[in-house]
Amino acid sequence: MSLPTVAIIGRPNVGKSTIFNRIAGERISIVEDIPGVTRDRIYATGEWLTRKFNIIDTGGIELSDEPFMTEIRAQAEIAMTEADVIIAVVDGETGITDADEAVANILYRTDKPVILVVNKVDNPERRMEIFDFYSLGLGDPYPVSAVHGIGTGDVLDAIVQNLPNEIEEENENVIKFSLIGRPNVGKSSLINAILGEDRVIASPIAGTTRDAIDTHFVDSEDQEFVMIDTAGMRKSGKIYENTEKYSVMRAMRAIDRSDIVLMVINAEEGIREYDMRIAGFAHEAGKGILIVVNKWDTLEKDNDTMKNFELEIRTKFKFLDYAPIVYVSAKTGQRLNKLPDMIKEIHHAQNLRISSSVLNDVIMDAVAINPTPTDKGKRLKIFYATQVAIKPPTFVVFVNEEELMHFSYLRFLENQIRKAFVFEGTPVHLIARKRK
Ligand code: GDP
Ligand code: GDP
Repeated sequence: MSLPTVAIIGRPNVGKSTIFNRIAGERISIVEDIPGVTRDRIYATGEWLTRKFNIIDTGGIELSDEPFMTEIRAQAEIAMTEADVIIAVVDGETGITDADEAVANILYRTDKPVILVVNKVDNPERRMEIFDFYSLGLGDPYPVSAVHGIGTGDVLDAIVQNLPNEIEEENENVIKFSLIGRPNVGKSSLINAILGEDRVIASPIAGTTRDAIDTHFVDSEDQEFVMIDTAGMRKSGKIYENTEKYSVMRAMRAIDRSDIVLMVINAEEGIREYDMRIAGFAHEAGKGILIVVNKWDTLEKDNDTMKNFELEIRTKFKFLDYAPIVYVSAKTGQRLNKLPDMIKEIHHAQNLRISSSVLNDVIMDAVAINPTPTDKGKRLKIFYATQVAIKPPTFVVFVNEEELMHFSYLRFLENQIRKAFVFEGTPVHLIARKRK
């Protein structure tokens, strides 16, 4: 299900990223733990009172060559386009500035809920002194001290109250996928080629703008697909649409809504930092992943070309060792006919349920080949394992002591599970739990 989105806007230095970190808490993407991948602070998932939502810090979307006011306006516009709820942040120490008024002026145009946060109200006695901010015309100001965590609970309450009702749009039989990749890798060309083969059908859920940009189609076997649009494909010419950060943010949103991500790489250019960030995000989100190397026609090939390319991918995307790779050309049509079947196989893998008895046979065999680790004279004991979720397939392994389960042993068990069942293209999560 797609989560609603909350965007934070405001001029520099008012405390947007501090508030973002407060709200995202520990849920900020841990992509940085993957070597070579930077942590992204512009997009995360927050949760409050059991409601989950995505949160964007528009301050992270820098438009380096643009004048200050243009940049602030663009960020406000991004918030109005992307978000369901907008948090406008001002600085309680400095008071209202021209830039705050400019932001407020833009926000008058939106009918989306706006929550006005007055940050840096560190002294509780001053919480009453924020009346001035009513003059911005953005409703009741919420006094907050983001660094001290004061008042953020009220802001979260207000966010949750203003979130749109959850739309249940889940249909297990429909495969939702997106094509993600840097500009010019050939996403639009691939989409046109894929859609050329299949019947495009009208979206069954009309109305919301979010769905209007998705394409629904069925293949020759009547499998229904939803292709989720991303920034690179719609070229509306807004200044921010070509910035890398905005494109990363759009990609992350598309990934969130997808079951399967087609990571498109240009054969001429190889893998870039952008690809690593996006792939890391998709991996952490537990999405199915297919690596599509496009423009295969442009390479002078010999017997080793494919092998060498695969080596580069496997080295750079170490964490994606389960993702299949396909070498295609949107121009010549080479291997494009394989894409729908590969997507369907990944869909099958991520929805696979393994019965506990079969699973435990595999686990016990694994333990027989490679005995469980010991620590300070104590040996890890595995009692049994069970699958608790699909998409991604998630297994809980019940043990005597969680601390005795090392990452490397979990990894070994995962590999044994992967050898026994076809989980190609999907992450598999293993969790060790102490048996009660
Ligand atoms: P952004 O540019 O809007 O993202 O602002 P930052 O979150 O980077 O914060 C700008 C500065 O304000 C940093 O030095 C923060 O430590 C400081 N700051 C943020 N929140 C508060 C707060 O609640 N009280 C005080 N006194 N300073 C804060
Ligand atoms: P997007 O920005 O990722 O959507 O990329 P486009 O689909 O717009 O393609 C960018 C450019 O690459 C266009 O000029 C395409 O004609 C070209 N292109 C796309 N796929 C291929 C391919 O497989 N081979 C070659 N040689 N060119 C391609």
